[in-house]
Amino acid sequence: MKVCKFGGTSMASADSVRLVTDIIRQDEDRRYIVVSAPGKRFPADVKVTDALYAYGKSHDFEGIAKRYTDIADAFGVDIAPLLQDVGTQLEGTSSRDFAASRGEYLCARMLAEILGAEFVDAAGLICFDEDGELLLAESCGRLFRRLSSTHIAVLPGFYGTLPDGNIKTFSRGGSDITGAIVAAALDADLYENWTDVDGFLSADPRIVKDPCLIERLSYKELRELAYMGAEVLHPECIFPVRHAGIPINVKNTFNPTHPGTMIVADAADCPSERVVTGVAGKKGFTIINIEKDMMNSEIGFARRVLSVLEEEQISFEHVPSGIDTLSIVIRDEYVERRLPRLLLKLQNASDADNIEVHSGLALIATVGRNMASRQGTAAALFKSLAARHINVRMIDQGSSELNIIIGVDTFDYEKAITAIYHGFFK
Ligand code: ADP
Ligand code: ASP
Ligand code: MG
Repeated sequence: MKVCKFGGTSMASADSVRLVTDIIRQDEDRRYIVVSAPGKRFPADVKVTDALYAYGKSHDFEGIAKRYTDIADAFGVDIAPLLQDVGTQLEGTSSRDFAASRGEYLCARMLAEILGAEFVDAAGLICFDEDGELLLAESCGRLFRRLSSTHIAVLPGFYGTLPDGNIKTFSRGGSDITGAIVAAALDADLYENWTDVDGFLSADPRIVKDPCLIERLSYKELRELAYMGAEVLHPECIFPVRHAGIPINVKNTFNPTHPGTMIVADAADCPSERVVTGVAGKKGFTIINIEKDMMNSEIGFARRVLSVLEEEQISFEHVPSGIDTLSIVIRDEYVERRLPRLLLKLQNASDADNIEVHSGLALIATVGRNMASRQGTAAALFKSLAARHINVRMIDQGSSELNIIIGVDTFDYEKAITAIYHGFFK
């Protein structure tokens, strides 16, 4: 049995939905279908989810409704009463999460109707605690009880319910997580994730032209690449499937015969000759450098610095350190408005000689399960960057040697990704 998740581009138009229905009907193992809200049909188009987030200000439901009627009409399905209900619900809500969730809700209702399959709402099945943390075991139990006697069902991705009954969404791209939870709940043989590229690529195709496709990827590599910005899969979607060891197959709705990328539990299951599997990155980081003579011998120094972050509820990405310096890499959104206060607290806690802030940092991860067993990977990486005159502001290599993370100036980001890619993939 397979659980299939179709992303926003797959659900964007009547033509793409026709491909989706063909894919589902071609294989009777494809029994549990999770959908995203309709995405972009062309580059300047607006995703339904973005239109719903803007609904609080725009109060424009007509444009959103038309996205669905354009598809439903092509299949001869009448969803006018459903749209009317949702329009009324939106008028009466101030919840951004509820509004955003209606994109997936409508899409799943519509596809169920088109396929003649059962619609099963994620509300009440996927559940969170009071703090908004996913209750994975509870959600799996509820899904299993609800779905095991259902032959073919369509579920909306992206949301679940809080203990008070209110709707809560995952972070953006979260339908990938819903698909993974459903796959785990039903102990699926395979979790197919259908998107608009042939599979997981070794670099972002919007930066590098025609990057190589990764045929097999380990869960760990997926986690590193997705977390660091390879947005083809949500970085949290491996947790539900990892425990059960369910493979994820990333496939292209627009090229369904292509085998895509298989993501499996263990690197031993996916032998590869390549040293580097892929490169991914993201912009929007700030680095705070704290300098103090003899810091290395001052017991408790790092704890005092990090406890300031804890008090301020700031999570950090990396803390590279030297003899007399400790640097903290933080996402811009954490520091934007609170930088002066944060710096003051850091100064008080550390009694530093000097604190410097550099914003405009981009992080890039070069990931490969074979890096641990080969020499010269770092040398090749830095040679590629030096050849393009790119200044590296930060270096961090995890002890697992699965990745090397570097920080570069944002204006060098695309150039650095391209240089690293061409350094390893000829
Ligand atoms: P969906 O709507 O199907 O969930 P997404 O837009 O979330 O699709 O993810 C697919 C997109 O991710 C691709 O169109 C591609 O532009 C982008 N992308 C970024 N990095 C990668 C990568 N390493 N491999 C494949 N796609 C990537
Ligand atoms: N529709 C949501 C988003 O745009 C969730 C998803 O597509 O996975 O983020
Ligand atoms: Mg996505």
